[in-house]
Amino acid sequence: MSFSEQIKNYQWDDIRLSIYGKSENDVKRALSKERLDLEDFKALISPAAEPFLEQMAQKSQQLTQQRFGKTQQFFIPLYLSNMCSNICTYCGFSMHNAIRRKTLDMKEIEDECLAIKKMGFAHILLVTGESERKVGVEYFKQALPIIKKHFSHISIEVQPLDQHEYEALIEYGVDAVLVYQETYNPVTYAEHHLKGKKSDFKYRLDTHDRLGKAGMLKMGLGCLIGLEEWRTDCFYVAAHLNYLEKIYWQSRYAISFPRLRPCAGGMEIKSVMDDKELVQLICAYRLFSPEVELSLSTRESEHFRDHVLPLGITSLSAGSSTQPGGYAATSTKALEQFEISDDRSPAKMAKLVKSKGFEVVWKDWDHSLTGK
Ligand code: SF4
Repeated sequence: MSFSEQIKNYQWDDIRLSIYGKSENDVKRALSKERLDLEDFKALISPAAEPFLEQMAQKSQQLTQQRFGKTQQFFIPLYLSNMCSNICTYCGFSMHNAIRRKTLDMKEIEDECLAIKKMGFAHILLVTGESERKVGVEYFKQALPIIKKHFSHISIEVQPLDQHEYEALIEYGVDAVLVYQETYNPVTYAEHHLKGKKSDFKYRLDTHDRLGKAGMLKMGLGCLIGLEEWRTDCFYVAAHLNYLEKIYWQSRYAISFPRLRPCAGGMEIKSVMDDKELVQLICAYRLFSPEVELSLSTRESEHFRDHVLPLGITSLSAGSSTQPGGYAATSTKALEQFEISDDRSPAKMAKLVKSKGFEVVWKDWDHSLTGK
């Protein structure tokens, strides 16, 4: 059974009502348990949990240090292309936006790798728009050997692929794949994904099943916070994680929580999540899954990142540019996918993290430790 079958057990309106109906006692019960179920998770993200934020943060911090030590993994995105064959209402790369399009050639990729290497990173996240014609598997097969020379860990955030394509990319050195569902509400999903392969809700939803079957070492999941009522959408992320952890238990998982940011062709945000609510969500994910990696991007402000990182976060991006060619500085700002909020350099960010008593890990776990 894939997750698109499993999700039929969860009706959107029932889940929303159940979350909003959780009581103080439900929250206390969740806080007293060692292993939490999805009902406990609902309690922790509910409005009833707001007065318990301090307790949640303490428990989250303790569980995170128990599992991950006092470390923060650093990674940096490398935007290979802003070509995209989809229309998504919230994204600067959307096909209908009149921006200059750019796909890095092999020489430009090498230049970007060298520029990033100088900053100290050994873990890179490759990002593209979703254009099978311009940045499909053949393009990655050309690019990966060049990138592999410079980095010990490669994650990708590209269009969802078939199982056999993931198997091929593993052979070429891909260690992790991040695919976000954006929203788990199929009606809202259809309103925001107007054209292109991405409008296939089910194909995207079953991506992690294909990844699991292909034997991917690590998978990232999440939703784009703001497209739908955030508590309900984030419950679905937890349900998805719960399902994946049980079925594909050999893989590792990571969750990110991007909040909608202004971008070219920007849109109204349906469900605004404030900073306190994001802290509540981070702690709820940690209490629900002590093993899951939680990642905070440069979309968030300096102030927020500095204060939240000890509470449950395990990885941070730093020094990010969301434009193809942005590190070797050959392009203009007009190519950006969204605005960066925290633009501190990786060195400055590392200093800050160390001042909070954390060790900076510039790469993901070594291959020799995973036996792959
Ligand atoms: S979100 Fe992804 S698929 Fe949609 S327009 Fe942006 S790059 Fe393309």
